[in-house]
Amino acid sequence: MRERPSLSQARSLLEDAAEDAGKVVIRCLGPLYVLAANAAILFIATSMVLVVYPRVLAGQPVANRAVHLIFLASTVGSVLWNYYACASVGPGYSLTKIQDPEAGHRTCKKCGCAKPEGCHHCSVCDKCVLGMDHHCPWMNTCVGRDNYAYFLRFLSSCWLGTAYTAAVSSVPIELVGMAIKYRKKDSGAHLSCYLLSLGVLIGITLLLGFHLYLASTGQTTISLVDKFASCETWREVARKLCWEQDFSLGNLRRAFAGRRGARGRAT
Ligand SMILES: [Zn+2]
Ligand SMILES: [Zn+2]
Repeated sequence: MRERPSLSQARSLLEDAAEDAGKVVIRCLGPLYVLAANAAILFIATSMVLVVYPRVLAGQPVANRAVHLIFLASTVGSVLWNYYACASVGPGYSLTKIQDPEAGHRTCKKCGCAKPEGCHHCSVCDKCVLGMDHHCPWMNTCVGRDNYAYFLRFLSSCWLGTAYTAAVSSVPIELVGMAIKYRKKDSGAHLSCYLLSLGVLIGITLLLGFHLYLASTGQTTISLVDKFASCETWREVARKLCWEQDFSLGNLRRAFAGRRGARGRAT
């Protein structure tokens, strides 16, 4: 006769089922996040060209308008190039299956692959990721050893682009009134372009600031969280995360260039 599972076993089964359901949801939502990110980039770019420029640059010399257009095109090009490079290059996976787990290798319990330093199993990708930083839902892939440089360049281009579009489309007060009162189509697009640029700019500023800190100190999001988790007091947190860090421009340069040795993740 089959034994009935104990309460702790039942709880563990339920937790596993909830975790699996969470992964399925994240996997299904991945393409929608990618679609939303691309739609936001295209909306801002087209609104700038079709609505904002004709208003803001009206009466300006052709050379001025050309400079704005070229700057916008090159920034959007850089954002899209780094976005797709980051997503298509991938983070780098550990593909070596360990036949003999007792031979001294660190082995992943979930996929059986070798786990060098900095390698973590991503439960969404269901693979072991080299130099894993995090799983990015907006790119629907992990960010790790091979694509972190593209990720940093994407964030930087995004910051530059949205700072520019938010500044150029800064809405005069009467434009907000017009959009609400007369429901003018163009004013609505102008206002939406400004608000979306501003919203993305605020989010990207925080994210870029965080990753510049990580890159310049040779850390990953995961290694930082591990350090944070081992702290018992706020004083210890401040000491480990700020005073004991070795900030280096060399680390930052290497991270942007795609050479990851300084972050201790290369294998
Ligand atoms: Zn694994
Ligand atoms: Zn992943």
